[in-house]
Amino acid sequence: MVKKIKTPYYLIDEKKLLKNLKKIEYVRNFSGAKSVLALKCFSTWSVFDLMNKYMDGTTSSSLYEAKLGYEQFGKETHVFSVAYSAEDIQTLKKISDKVIFNSVLQLKMFYKEVKHISVGLRINPGISYSHFDLADPARKYSRLGVTSIKDVMSVLDKVNGVMFHYNCENDDFETFSAMLSKITLKYEKILRKVKWVSLGGGLYFTKDGYPLDKFCEKLKSFSEQYGVQVYLEPGEASITKSCELVTTVLDIVKNTKDIAIVDSSIEAHMLDLLIYGTSAKVNSDIGKYRYIIAGRSCLAGDVFGEYKLKDRLKVGSRIRFADAAGYTMVKKNWFNGIEMPSIVVKRLNGKMEIVKQFLYNDFVSDLS
Ligand SMILES: *Cc1c(COP(=O)(O)O)cnc(C)c1O
Repeated sequence: MVKKIKTPYYLIDEKKLLKNLKKIEYVRNFSGAKSVLALKCFSTWSVFDLMNKYMDGTTSSSLYEAKLGYEQFGKETHVFSVAYSAEDIQTLKKISDKVIFNSVLQLKMFYKEVKHISVGLRINPGISYSHFDLADPARKYSRLGVTSIKDVMSVLDKVNGVMFHYNCENDDFETFSAMLSKITLKYEKILRKVKWVSLGGGLYFTKDGYPLDKFCEKLKSFSEQYGVQVYLEPGEASITKSCELVTTVLDIVKNTKDIAIVDSSIEAHMLDLLIYGTSAKVNSDIGKYRYIIAGRSCLAGDVFGEYKLKDRLKVGSRIRFADAAGYTMVKKNWFNGIEMPSIVVKRLNGKMEIVKQFLYNDFVSDLS
């Protein structure tokens, strides 16, 4: 019998990952749009050797992410930062293929340093698709991207490409398409002058049922109309549905409802559930046994969700939370000193590999 891996652990399944990667490859083949992985969503480099066969490189939000992309993923290294420091630029100018600026001031400040590589500017088109104000790039007073066309025009001779990141969890092709048409109209003059356009991330085009062919057609006609190379920056879409957080029930308590407590915590291991007030997905959420499943931190609201399970839970039962790849491992932390989930990869050949285990010493060395 195979020994059970000790919980908690994140389990990345390469076969499931491959499903997304094949769709990304399909989009490149049929639209010409290249895809670079947004590392801020997913930086678990143990599976980069698989991902870099289907994607064109990485995009980053910082110097460290860019270094990771350059060293572990290879191919094209793009970087965007809300604000670079002068030191960041010294390294980035050596390892990046494209440096994208968030403001005209920063572009002017660092242009001399980076003009030998491809220079980009982020534009805030003033429209967006997002379910959450917190994550809405065009929210009121947003600092993300240049809002004035005049300002963009003033540096256009220095710019090779522009980035519009205006979606968040958008699985609706029609709204994406309609907004792209609006952007096309508004920025026509600019689009005619640049070599590449990044349409950012936040598009769930790898989801089952997404009209991939229509998506490809739209991207292709946009690209042909302006003679630009289109880039997509999928984060969540690259890794969606490829990972579980596997936990064990440690206790069951009752306060009006039955509450199962697992050896994990949303604040420490799936932080976005707390930030956005959403529930974790549990695969067998269809039976008659009702439970609240909660974390073991001392935060009162450390709750994964409420579920109707097929089987009655007991101490020792395993609970697997689905869709645990994006914005989880990159955000995990040592709150409450709770044991950090290991990272396990199920390789394409079915072999389970524990790629990372965290020990007490990791907790100690995180601070001093
Ligand atoms: C967050 C972000 C992405 C990735 O977003 P997903 O929703 O994970 O696809 C891509 N580009 C930029 C500029 C971002 O800020």
